[in-house]
Amino acid sequence: MNSNKKLRLGVISALAEEQEGLVEAMKGPHKLTHAMRDYTQGNLWGIDAVCVLSRIGKAAAAMTAAILVEKFEVTHIVFTGVAGSGDIFVKVGDIVVAESLVQHDMDARPLFPRFEVPLTGLSRFPSDLALSDHLAFSAQDFLSDELKSVFNEVEAKEFGLDEPRLHRGLIGSGDQFIHSRAQLGQLKEALPDLLAVEMEGAAVAQVCFELGIPYAVIRTVSDNANEDAAVDFMRFVRTVASRYAFHVVKRLCERLVGRT
Ligand code: SAH
Repeated sequence: MNSNKKLRLGVISALAEEQEGLVEAMKGPHKLTHAMRDYTQGNLWGIDAVCVLSRIGKAAAAMTAAILVEKFEVTHIVFTGVAGSGDIFVKVGDIVVAESLVQHDMDARPLFPRFEVPLTGLSRFPSDLALSDHLAFSAQDFLSDELKSVFNEVEAKEFGLDEPRLHRGLIGSGDQFIHSRAQLGQLKEALPDLLAVEMEGAAVAQVCFELGIPYAVIRTVSDNANEDAAVDFMRFVRTVASRYAFHVVKRLCERLVGRT
């Protein structure tokens, strides 16, 4: 956050619903289509930003992150999206900010330990602490001060958004939509501190690590990664996800203005 280089924030989501409203909120938006994706650069609440949808999965996310840095010269990246819960204490409607990310489907045994990304020596990629702190404060403020005005009582009840909480810890990414207790159970055995499962974050993490770009990942929990996950996910993404993302990113930009 104290770098001399002027901040330009890259904002990635996999799906349109995970960042709906951000491009519309931009001042002076300028859209450029490159490699099958739309990159929109503009001013987001005082912050120079570039918003893009990566689509789903690790390769899609990695490519998008690399292009954001190399072609659009972003200095920081935030991934905002939804995820399945990876722990009984993490409920639908809660928010998880990553402290570190693991590619949970990486397995080059016996050549390398399980989860280690070959030749990086890493299985867990740590996110940038300063950017993650800003994101976590933004998320906490949103949950405590704003949630009740953003969702009416019927919506809050339907999605069980009574007292959503913020968690910080390990997020796992893989090219799998986790939708069974057995699948999640196996992962938890190997990664007991896992808080959430999704399909992009740890790929963005590897790209940012290799390019030396500070990054943070925030996920709203849309489902329990169990047999009901597909149905819960669809309902949540349609109704809830974009409002979380919009308000948290707005708060993040407002925090970053003046601190850069
Ligand atoms: N059927 C959906 C596919 C969504 S894939 C469609 O056609 O649009 C799920 C997306 O949400 C991924 O981008 C992933 O990062 C996140 N996600 C939410 N819940 C997840 C879960 N249980 N397992 C893995 N990824 C999940």
